[in-house]
Amino acid sequence: MLNHIAQNYHKALSDIQSVCATHARPALEVTLLAVSKTHPVAAVIEAYAAGARHFGENYVQEGIEKVGALEALIPDHTAIWHFIGPLQSNKTRLVAQYFDWVHSIDRIKIAQRLSEQRPHSLRPINLCIQVNISAQSTKSGCTPEEAIQLAQQMIELPNITLRGLMAIPAPMPSTTLTHSESPASAPFRAMAQLFTDIQSQLPETAAKQFDTLSMGMSDDYPLAIAAGSTLVRIGTAIFGARAYPN
Ligand SMILES: *Cc1c(COP(=O)(O)O)cnc(C)c1O
Repeated sequence: MLNHIAQNYHKALSDIQSVCATHARPALEVTLLAVSKTHPVAAVIEAYAAGARHFGENYVQEGIEKVGALEALIPDHTAIWHFIGPLQSNKTRLVAQYFDWVHSIDRIKIAQRLSEQRPHSLRPINLCIQVNISAQSTKSGCTPEEAIQLAQQMIELPNITLRGLMAIPAPMPSTTLTHSESPASAPFRAMAQLFTDIQSQLPETAAKQFDTLSMGMSDDYPLAIAAGSTLVRIGTAIFGARAYPN
């Protein structure tokens, strides 16, 4: 393939390992989510062959087409599908059927619908609360205060597992992205603090399952890992530039 997906995937993995080593973190603590949105099934297959198992999609229809296509091509595959885009209530049923994770929960109604609509033949769906940590008016995500309340409500739902938090901090100039003391690192550190705060307020069983801090993308994942991210969502650095925008 022209864009060297396998090579890029291995490069991302080794970069994650070296950032982890720098910060005295075991590399196994950080999951690499390959964000395949807008890229064809062939790209997913190539990443899968290179060892990728976690895939991220933003659009429901496009995502379920790829879930089905992978299933058809590799019936015994072990891929795990993450829905990471904004989710409207009229699309929850499809997501509850086809995805293993949703990272973008910012209101209880969506979590309730996913819990009700999760097929009983499947394990509970894994959910993360999206926090608008940079307080951007145009972005989805709840406030840190709302996240604590939402977590308390979500742990009462039967067919979901509350796994943690997700954030997409406001973009920063690339010059600020190399130093862990830079302003770009502040939202990641705030998220890590919020994660610990919420975890400490949950009952023991729920606190144990609350193990995921989903933050860091192609441009800023070293900073996110330095601050404590356990899952980085990487699209461009693996699959190349997207043919159409977000
Ligand atoms: C598109 C997207 C990514 C991947 O972004 P890259 O900059 O291409 O790595 C990660 N997270 C979310 C929520 C996205 O929508």
